[in-house]
Order: sequence, then structure tokens, then C-alpha cells
Amino acid sequence: MASIESHDYDVLIIGAGGAGLRAAVEATARGCKTAIITKSLLGKAHTVMAEGGMAAAMGNVWEQDNWKVHFRDTMRGGKMLNNWRMAQIHAQEAPDRVLELESWGALFDRTPDGRILQRDFGGHRYARLAHVGDRTGLEMIRILQQKSVAEDIDVFSECTINQLLVNDSEINGAIGYWRETGELVQFRAKSVIMATGGLGRIWSVTSNSWEGTGDGHSLAMNAGAEMIDMEFVQFHPTGMVAPASVKGILVTEGVRGDGGTLRNSLGERFMFNYIPPMFASETADTEEEADRWYTDKENARRTPDLLPRDEVARAINSEVKAGRGSPSGGVYLDIASRRDTDYIKRRLPSMYHQFMELAGVDITKESMEVGPTAHYVMGGVRVDPESTATSVGGLYAAGEVAAGLHGSNRLGGNSLSDLLVFGKRAGEFAAERALAMEHSTLDKQQVDEAVARIAKPFESEGTENPYTVQSELRELMQSKVGIIRNKTDLESALGEILKLKDREANVGVSGTHSYNPGWHTALDLQHLLSMSEAITKAALERQESRGGHTRDDFPAPSDEFGKLNIVATLGDSGGVNIKRESLSEMPEELAELFKD
Ligand code: FAD
Repeated sequence: MASIESHDYDVLIIGAGGAGLRAAVEATARGCKTAIITKSLLGKAHTVMAEGGMAAAMGNVWEQDNWKVHFRDTMRGGKMLNNWRMAQIHAQEAPDRVLELESWGALFDRTPDGRILQRDFGGHRYARLAHVGDRTGLEMIRILQQKSVAEDIDVFSECTINQLLVNDSEINGAIGYWRETGELVQFRAKSVIMATGGLGRIWSVTSNSWEGTGDGHSLAMNAGAEMIDMEFVQFHPTGMVAPASVKGILVTEGVRGDGGTLRNSLGERFMFNYIPPMFASETADTEEEADRWYTDKENARRTPDLLPRDEVARAINSEVKAGRGSPSGGVYLDIASRRDTDYIKRRLPSMYHQFMELAGVDITKESMEVGPTAHYVMGGVRVDPESTATSVGGLYAAGEVAAGLHGSNRLGGNSLSDLLVFGKRAGEFAAERALAMEHSTLDKQQVDEAVARIAKPFESEGTENPYTVQSELRELMQSKVGIIRNKTDLESALGEILKLKDREANVGVSGTHSYNPGWHTALDLQHLLSMSEAITKAALERQESRGGHTRDDFPAPSDEFGKLNIVATLGDSGGVNIKRESLSEMPEELAELFKD
């Protein structure tokens, strides 16, 4: 233990995406010695990849917009399974967080009279996404990073945390390794904030980068935190499908927000056949009305191309299954026939380059081929809506790793505003706790065990290759725990996951500790497996279809399951325990908003 590099901080933040950086700015402003850790480089993370924008009811384009409408849209998008208080706080505070980002230097696109421009996205009643072309995440990270560096926050880049340390059921630190040298590093902290993002890499077709292996979900659960909603995974309807090497890369919803339409191989705008009753009154049911909506929003109902993502992804899946898909197994997304070249290049510059360079497709002239891709996890660590505190003392969570705000399905644009609203709150409450206490001593036995576990793949005589096990897991989850699920597939997947867990115990790696991707993959594998188990067990337990969880053996939503969360916790044998728990009731003044 003496030989391990050691650091002490008031607030330790794991993850340098939008949630982590916003939390860091807040904790430092409140006088805490703060560090932020990222397993990649500062300025990377999924946040930088965000394209379309951040949702906030600022009313710049539609003055009728306000937090109540945003709250209502978020709850309906999540099929009413959201934590209502988180959805309320988010809708109320998002406009201030966006304006604050602007005051720190963010350069948003503008309305003709100079206010922040807002764009249309699926499930939002009004154009609501503040954006910077289709590179909004880049601007957000740029500003937050600048602010953090200016505040002198310590940054540990290319450092992977592998275990949280617990003392008397309270978090008091974390241990990890430098990716470059393989040397270990331990932190003592009074408060720890998880801001580690999502787990899209569990599936073989995903928009997520190598970082999205669910580390934070798994570390928090191992430390005793409760997880909720793990069965709800967002398959974004429009990922690239060809060529195979780029399958899964995201095509922003902004393409449809700016006029793009979906068609099948017969040239039909098939989304008119998939309008669910919940959205029927506000969705156009003729092409003429849908087309008119792009120019006359006052007098036309929204195009069904912009229904919430779960609806559109299922519709695409059904069209492909019915034999009406494109040659590469997707459908067509066309913006060229509605918008001119200048407009497309100005509003969607990244999409233009992405298709030109990766697929040789000129989107100003041709349709794109698109299909669903694993994109976002609604499930994660259960947090207190006000403070983001988890069920473990001293542990907070914000951003994609935390659950509750989005219910069973997230609306596009609601993640970036989530990061700002709850990142700030996490920083604030973690700081408050840290300032009121002293450091506690790290438990030597726990540290020694962690050190042995981290080193184990080198010492193992096992013959399993970490890449093979990981790739088999991802194919399994893609085929059996994907967009459409059923009991037979889920039970079979669970059996296979448990076998893969046994094989993981037999994984061995060779070479040195210095930048050894095989070793890193072996360690990530533990997170991927335990979260796959949680997702599959929760998916078996929820016997209904809702949002990002569709069971073809229970195709309708059920009243019973509509009132409860599935809670996952670590079991005694290292497996995942599942239980059901009732949702808290929404107060009457908010319930009123859904009466019509
Ligand atoms: P991330 O930004 O994913 O950051 C996670 C951080 O945790 C990283 O720094 C990572 O290195 C670190 N980390 C993880 N594990 C460890 C570990 N073990 N040790 C140390 N560090 C660790 N949402 C919107 O609202 N609007 C959009 O337009 C939009 N577009 C998107 C486009 C794409 C292509 C993608 C992939 C997502 C998009 N999203 C969008 C979703 C949104 O970007 C993410 O949900 C959000 O950025 C997640 O932010 P985060 O701060 O929670 O985590």
C-alpha cells in the first residue's frame, strides 16, 4: 500500500464529460479541493460527440413554451415512469444552466433578433434545443473545460478507476491505474461523484465509443448503490448501417428536426402507420399536413418522423422485418429533397462530412441509409432528486450513469441539459458534505484486495482471451437483449451471461503493465458482464412493453408495471438481485397537467 501513488481530495469526480465537468466547477466554486478523473483525455467523452443540442424551455422560438410543457413532454416521452421531481427540477432549471453556459462564452446559433436559436427534436412540443450547428457537445465541453482549467481543478487523464473504497458503509476513496504505465493510484475523498456516462458498448451495434463500458454503473453497484430502470435502453432510430465498418455511428435527430423524412424501400413514408394513441391528437396523419408543419407550425400537427425515439426505432425495425428495408438492412432518411445544399451544409455540417467521408454519400443529393443503434441507457444509479445522493453515504451520481429523469425513454436533447442541471447539483451537495467532515482512513485490506484483483489477469494461468469473451457478450446482447425481447431469449441470454462470467474468471493476459489494451479489456469485461446481467434480469422481470423495453410476449404497457421501478442490487454471491418498488406519487398540481 505504501508504494501506491496517493492523493487526498475533498471532492473526487470520476468522469470528465459534461456532468463531471459541471460538478467540478461547482465543487471548486464552493471552496473544495477537487479532482476530476477520466479514462481518456480531457475534452473527449461522449459529451463532445453530442450533435443536436440541449433542451431547455427558453421560449426563444415559441413564446408559448415554458417549464410545464417541457416537464409534460419529458414525462410523456418516458411513458410516465420518470421520477417526477427530477423531471420538474430539470425543466425548471435547464434555461438558467444554458444561459450560464452562454455567459461563460458558449457561442450558440442565433435567432434573427439575436437570441439563442432553438431547434425541433422528437417528442418536444416546441422547438426547444439550443444548439451550435450539429456540434453542440463540442462547444459545451470546450466551455466547461476552459472553466475547469481556469479554476485550477486537478485533472487525472488516462486514469481508470476500478474500485470505490468504502468505510463503514460510506465511500471514502477510489483506486485505479494509469493507462499509460499501468501503475496504481489511490485517492482518499470525502465525497465521490460518479459521472462516468453510459454502457452502449454492451451491444455490438452502438453509437458509443470505447469509453462506454458501464464502469460507473458497476462500481456503484459493487459499492452497495441501488440501480433502477436497467431494462430501459435507448436504441436511437438513426445510426449509420453501411458500410459495415461504421455501423452504429449516430445520425443526429437534427436531420429530421430540420426537415428529413423516413421512407422504406417502396418509397413510402411509413411513420404514418405507427402513430401511437398517446400522440395521435398532436401528430399529422397526412403527408400534406406533416409537410406543412415545417413551415406553418401554428396550424399543422407535428410530423410523425419526430415521434419519440422508441416509437421510431420500433417502426424501422418492423419495416425491415417486413422486407421493406434498404439493401444494408435499414431504411432511407432523406433531407435532400426538402432543403437546399447551403442549408444542409450550414445546419448539419458534421452529418455532411460524416456521410461523405465514411460512406461516399452526398446527403445534399442522396438519401442516407439508417437503422437503430444502441445509444443511451435510461437506467442507472438511483439518486435523490434534490441532491443526487445515492443510497451509499458520500456517493453522488449525475449524467447518464444516474437514473430517474428519463423514465423508460429519454427525449433527444434532454441529456445535455440533464448534465448541466444535475451536474451542478451534484457538485453543490458533494461539496456541502465534504466541507463538514474530516477524511477517514482507507481500509488496508480492501486496498490490498483491489490491488490483487486488478493484477489478476496477469497472474492468471487462464487461457480465455478477453477480446473473444467481450465480443461474444456483445453479439449475445445484440441478438437476445436488443430492441425486441421475449422470455425465451432473455432466459437463454441470462444462462449464456452466467457462462461468460465463469469464462471471465479464466481470462489471462500477457505483456507488460505499460499501455496494455488486453489488460484494460479484461478489467472492463467485469463491468460489461455485471451490467448485462442486471439489464437482462430487469428485462425478464418487467412483463410489459414500455419505452426502451419491448417484449413481444407482453406487447402492451401494463397498469401494474406502469407504477413501479425494477431495482437491481449486488447479491451476496456477486450476482445481481432484483426487486420491484412502487413509484412515488405525483402531486396534484403536476398531475393536472396530464388531465387532457
Ligand atoms: P460522458 O460524456 O460519457 O463522460 C464519461 C466520462 O467518464 C469520460 O470522461 C470517461 O472517460 C469517464 N470514465 C468512464 N469510466 C471511467 C473509469 N472507470 N475511470 C475513470 N473515468 C471513467 N444528448 C443530447 O442531449 N443531445 C444531443 O445532441 C446528443 N447527441 C449525442 C450524439 C452521440 C454520438 C452520442 C454518443 C450521444 C449523444 N447524446 C446527446 C447523449 C449525450 O451526449 C450523453 O448522454 C452525455 O454526453 C453523457 O454525459 P456524461 O457526462 O454523463 O458522460
